[in-house]
Amino acid sequence: MIDYRLPVSRLTQAMQASGIREIMNRAGALERAGKKVIHMEIGRPDYDSPACAKDAVKRALDEGKVHYTDTAGTPELRRAIADVMKRDHEMEIDPDGEVVVTVGALEALLAAFFAFLEPGDEVLVPTPFFPAYADQITLAGGVLREVPCRFENEFRLSAADLAAAVTPKTRMLLLNTPNNPSGAVMRREELADIAALAQKHDFLVISDECYEKFSYEGRHVSIASLPGMRERTIIISSASKTFSMTGWRVGWLIVPAPVKPFVAKCHQNFTSCASSFAQAGVAAALYDAGEDVKRMIDGYKERRDALIARLRGIRGFEVNMPGGAFYAFPRVAELTSRFGMSTTDFATWLLEEAGVAAVPGEAFHAPGNFLRMAYCRPLEEIHEAMDRIEAAVKKK
Ligand code: PMP
Repeated sequence: MIDYRLPVSRLTQAMQASGIREIMNRAGALERAGKKVIHMEIGRPDYDSPACAKDAVKRALDEGKVHYTDTAGTPELRRAIADVMKRDHEMEIDPDGEVVVTVGALEALLAAFFAFLEPGDEVLVPTPFFPAYADQITLAGGVLREVPCRFENEFRLSAADLAAAVTPKTRMLLLNTPNNPSGAVMRREELADIAALAQKHDFLVISDECYEKFSYEGRHVSIASLPGMRERTIIISSASKTFSMTGWRVGWLIVPAPVKPFVAKCHQNFTSCASSFAQAGVAAALYDAGEDVKRMIDGYKERRDALIARLRGIRGFEVNMPGGAFYAFPRVAELTSRFGMSTTDFATWLLEEAGVAAVPGEAFHAPGNFLRMAYCRPLEEIHEAMDRIEAAVKKK
């Protein structure tokens, strides 16, 4: 038998199992055995993509827009991204010099890590966090340095905790607000304290703003909009969540002009460009899908409020009101200790006993016993999930 000599050293650390996939696989097995599972483990919007985006794709195909585009993305989409930044955040972005369109935010993040990280450079990542960050930082040769965020502070990053984690090797902070998985939304004054630290210690900020439209209590604030921060912030965003377009695979970076050639070089080698006709659809969505986005966000807010009210009624679940994204992140420490289970055991038990799939907090490097429950499900399903969990916990 051939020895493939895998994994190569670069991959060894990135080969840890994904807690989300594990729960999904187990849920799939239960479903094949005939059990009805309510899926709260996947962070995937359940709405259809906007009609204006689909129409634009059909037109693009009919017009023969089927070839490679500019590496940085079509001029139309880059212009749309800049126009929307102006419209929504009063930020002046140069569509030619400061925007790179990628295959989803995931590729945008990877390009940023590859462009900036020397071997051993540290990336500060507040916990809990989207697990791909850890793998991508490792693949790019960087070192992940976790910064704890606390349940008691509604999982918002504190400047004191951040300051304590800075070292001479700190190259960048990865900030994700609204946050996956905690739903935390940073406040303007907290961002100002973080901006001051970034300037004092001269590190960059990679600001993952994929969930910016999912800010339920007020308008999203980008750290890039604070004084002195444009030049040291890389904004990452995407059509996936905002427009319910996860399968279209279009994201982007907004970077300071001197950085663009380096990010573009990585992107060119990763994928050449994002899909030509998908880019046409995203440009249309940015301009014309406002009503669709409003309808979806209103729907998520209603689901959030229902889920949190129900969770707070179940003994053993403690939960913050998430200000954004579409996840609840309840603490279940009382239950895990009463039942003598790890969080992973508890999530497995919940799946098998109640037929509700949720992800154990370990998957997001959460300190303590937490679950992530995605509420991008119809309201009736959320209520049914809560009925089932309530009954299972009472019975045990
Ligand atoms: N960042 C965060 C915080 C996410 O939750 C996700 C998707 N789950 C991504 C980035 C990647 O999004 P995309 O589909 O645009 O690659």
